[in-house]
Amino acid sequence: MNEKALKARELKGEDLHAFVDAKGITHDCPACGHDHVAIMSHGPDMPLHIYAMPLLHPGLPEEGAVEMVGVTCPNCGHLRMFAAQMVVEWKEIAPPGSINWEEEEPPSDR
Ligand SMILES: [Zn+2]
Repeated sequence: MNEKALKARELKGEDLHAFVDAKGITHDCPACGHDHVAIMSHGPDMPLHIYAMPLLHPGLPEEGAVEMVGVTCPNCGHLRMFAAQMVVEWKEIAPPGSINWEEEEPPSDR
């Protein structure tokens, strides 16, 4: 197992939540329009569920897998998957303090 695959196993629910927000990924479900996503883990501080998608290289003997993490729609169950390695790579370069788990206060208009 390569280094990135090992690091994917250290990802927590809060990491994917921060990734979704940092990348500007909409919370709106593309299937039903519901405006909330649920992270596929057992909690913010719990490991992400990792889905391994078999990867075939036609004409070549080796086979592999793409590891995915995902969010789901609590209204219709639509799944959106992201390559776990993208989250690993993003987390490695995300500057400290750029990850904010708390809901931001709306700006007060004065
Ligand atoms: Zn939906």
